[in-house]
Amino acid sequence: MATAIPKPGDFVEVVTADETIKGTLLQSPELEKSVVVIKLGSGYNIGISKDKVKRITVVPPQQQQEEKEEKGITAAAATTKKQKLPKISILHTGGTIASKVDYRTGGVIAKFLPEEILAMFPELKEIANIDSKLIRNMWSEDMRFAHYNLMAKEAAKEAAKGIDGIIITHGTDTMHYSSAALAFALEGIGIPVILVGSQRSSDRGSTDSALNLVAAAYFIAHADFSGVAICMHENMSDNACLILPATKTRKMHTSRRDAFRAINSTAIARVEVENNNISFLSGNHAKKNKDSKIMLKLFDEKLRVGILKTHPNMHAEEFKAYQSYDGLVIEGFALGHAPVSAIDEFTTEHKKILAAIEALCKKMPVVMASQCIYGRLQMNVYQTARDIQAAGVAGHLSDMTPETTFIKLAWLLSNYKKAEVKDLITKNLRGEITERTEPADFLV
Ligand code: GLU
Repeated sequence: MATAIPKPGDFVEVVTADETIKGTLLQSPELEKSVVVIKLGSGYNIGISKDKVKRITVVPPQQQQEEKEEKGITAAAATTKKQKLPKISILHTGGTIASKVDYRTGGVIAKFLPEEILAMFPELKEIANIDSKLIRNMWSEDMRFAHYNLMAKEAAKEAAKGIDGIIITHGTDTMHYSSAALAFALEGIGIPVILVGSQRSSDRGSTDSALNLVAAAYFIAHADFSGVAICMHENMSDNACLILPATKTRKMHTSRRDAFRAINSTAIARVEVENNNISFLSGNHAKKNKDSKIMLKLFDEKLRVGILKTHPNMHAEEFKAYQSYDGLVIEGFALGHAPVSAIDEFTTEHKKILAAIEALCKKMPVVMASQCIYGRLQMNVYQTARDIQAAGVAGHLSDMTPETTFIKLAWLLSNYKKAEVKDLITKNLRGEITERTEPADFLV
């Protein structure tokens, strides 16, 4: 009997020098034809360099059935394509989730196209009818205000079609800046807009993309929630994702799949796709309202806003460098401190620093945020912070992350008069400032 030539969709056995892998053969991505991509029973995809493959054979139907039964995959799971599935638009911006390993160099470089990502995760189509659009294929460290505007405008356009939600795929490095930017820009959005990234490229067996994407889609399809949020792994296993608040989340680890944590807040919800379970963890979220009118409040792309981290042995020049800017966030110490006290012969520079801060405050809003990350500014306790406030620095009592403070300052400067900015920066507009500091919210 002639052996069938494996084609995409076939259940195959791939033999390499090191291992034997069974799964469904997927179309190799356009830009990387030298890689065999296999969907594993776990739902994850693995890419294997063709050089390493000794043999690929189609598994006969009888053996396939036995394999699937062994793994508990029943035919029923894959059947019911419902007519009335919710509609989700995926807007792609790039990042690791859209990337793959270049098997020649070992570096993560090339980018998947939106259709290729969807083809890799067919389970998404069981949850919703998906439309997908490429906005950019970029690393998130290259994001500028103009990209926030692109994303916000596209999201508003999609929402106007009456869809049930939007997923934005995004690099993880600056995902928490973008989520805050979109939360401010998309005022009144009545559907969920969920940002999703991954710490391992989508072609790896160990990728976290699958769960993050599927959990985001599942959440959009089944939860009564509207507004912007992030969906990423809750822990190192592949069993749950958290829906995290757009303005109170931060990437807290360089590489772990559960790097994203709510700061001075709790996660909004936990999504366990395998158990069909969504548990809301915090009570106050907006509900879906497809008729809600979006007021697009975009970023002024020409604005120059900076963040300056305080450190020991500072010089006034560091502050003066911002004199032509439109706004500055000082990432100060703890409760809102900076080196402004001239206490001996070694600290005379600090007088100049205070004068430089005062000069900046006359030109632009200057806002304090804490490099502690957790906790709230309290700028009335020590004389240092009183002096800084007297120089004109805003932020007293804020518990915003430095990143959200930066985004909010830029957004306020883009949409409000200068006099209003200083007042609004410490008012809660999108959940970015909480009223109470809860002990349980520390290091969770
Ligand atoms: N630095 C890249 C980015 O943020 C890759 C990291 C990632 O996507 O996780 O886009």
